[in-house]
Amino acid sequence: MKFGGTSMAGTERIRRVARIVQRQQAAGHEVAVVVSAMAGETDRLVNFCREANPLYDPAEYDVVVASGEQVTSGLLAMHLQALGCKARSWLGWQVPIKTDDAHAKARIEDIDAEAMLASMASGEIAVIPGFQGVAPTGRVTTLGRGGSDTSAVAVAAAVKADRCDIYTDVDGVYTTDPRIVAKARKLKNVTYEEMLELASVGSKVLQTRSVSLAMKEGVRVQVLSSFIDDDAPAADTIPGTMIVSDEELEGLDMERQLITGIAADKNEAKITLTRISDRPGAVAAIFGPLAAANINVDMIIQNIAKDKGETDVTFTVPISDLARTQALLEERKDTIGYYRMLSNSKVAKISVVGVGMRSHAGVASTMFRALADRGINIQAITTSEIKVSVLIDEDETELAVRVLHTAYEMDGE
Ligand code: ADP
Ligand code: ASP
Ligand code: MG
Repeated sequence: MKFGGTSMAGTERIRRVARIVQRQQAAGHEVAVVVSAMAGETDRLVNFCREANPLYDPAEYDVVVASGEQVTSGLLAMHLQALGCKARSWLGWQVPIKTDDAHAKARIEDIDAEAMLASMASGEIAVIPGFQGVAPTGRVTTLGRGGSDTSAVAVAAAVKADRCDIYTDVDGVYTTDPRIVAKARKLKNVTYEEMLELASVGSKVLQTRSVSLAMKEGVRVQVLSSFIDDDAPAADTIPGTMIVSDEELEGLDMERQLITGIAADKNEAKITLTRISDRPGAVAAIFGPLAAANINVDMIIQNIAKDKGETDVTFTVPISDLARTQALLEERKDTIGYYRMLSNSKVAKISVVGVGMRSHAGVASTMFRALADRGINIQAITTSEIKVSVLIDEDETELAVRVLHTAYEMDGE
C-alpha cells in the first residue's frame, strides 16, 4: 500500500491511513506500506536548499529532502501501534533500498527485503518512507520528485506482492485531470503502455518511472482514494483504476474508446533558431551539444527551406533547462550559424493518448479541427504510435483540454 502527500498531511489523516492499513491486515494480508512526506513538505525543504545555496550539493539536498518521509513513516508506525497493530518503520538504508549514486535523481538497483519479509511474516506491518534509498557510498539518495510511487512499485516487486495499491487524493485514473475538467470520467482499466505515455506527458497521478518499473516487473498496480469512510469496501473490491496488460484489457473491455486520456504539461519551453543554413550537419550542430549536456529535447520542427537555402528550427526543452540551453547555443552561435534565437516559456503541451489509435485513422485531424474551431493555434506537433501532442499558448491550456475532451466524446455526467 502506498499513501501520497495529501493522504499523510496531519494527524487526523494519518490516523485514517492507519485504519485503512489495519483493515487490510485484519483481512488476512501481510502488509508493507510506503508513505510520502506531508503535502507541501518536500517543496518547503527544497526551498531551504535553494536559499542555502542556489548551486547546492545534491548529496546534501538528499539529506534534507529525504527527511519529510522519515517523519511520516515514524508517525504512521506510531498510529498503527496505537490501534494495537505491530508495526515498525524501515528507512531506505535499513531495508536496504540500494540505488546508484545519482543524487536527487537516483535509480533503484536492488532491494534486499529479507529482514523486512521476516518481520512481516511475524505479523509486523512494515512502514517504509518513499522517495529515499542508499547509494553504494552509504549516503542517502532520493529518487526524483514524485518518487514514492516508484518506491512502492519497487518494494511490491521485491516482496512479490499480490498487488500494489496506490492510495491518493482522487479515486482513480481519469480521462484527464479531474481538477481541470469536471466532466472527466474515471477509467476502470488502463494499460501499462497508455499509463506510461500519460505519465510522461504530464499526468502526475503516477510517476513515469513507477509505471515503467511496474510494466517491467509485472507488478499489478491499482490507483484508488484514501479519502474513504471506515465502512467503505476494502481495496480488493473498491472500484479504483487497475493498470493492466494489453491482453488483459482485450478480455475486459469490449467497447474500447479511441482515446484513453488527455494530459497537459506546462513545464516545457520553446526555442526557435532562425535562418540556419539548409545543409547536412546543421541540425546535428544544434542537438549534439544539448545531448552532451544531458538536456532532453522533446518536440522538434524544421521548416522547409526558403529561397536562400535557409530554414528555421524550433524545439522544446524542460523549462528547468532553458537557461542552460540558451547559454550553450549562444556560445555556439558562430559554429551553428543561426541569425536569431527566440524563446518562449509560456507554452503548454497537450497530448491525447490511446492504444485505439493504432487501428484508427483521423485521431490527429479531429484534434487539429477541434482546436482550430476554438481559435487555438498549434505551434508544434509530435506523434508516437499511441499519442499525438501539440504545443499551444499556455493561457489556452484548460480550454484546449476541455474542448478535446468533448471532441473525442469522453465527457461524463
Ligand atoms: P500523491 O500526493 O498521492 O502522490 P499527486 O498529487 O502526486 O498525489 O497525484 C494525484 C493528482 O494527480 C490528483 O490530485 C490530480 O489532480 C492529478 N492528476 C493529473 N492527471 C490525472 C488523471 N488523468 N487522473 C487522475 N488524477 C490526475
Ligand atoms: N515527497 C516527494 C515529492 O513530493 C516524493 C513523493 O511524494 O512521491 O516529490
Ligand atoms: Mg505523487
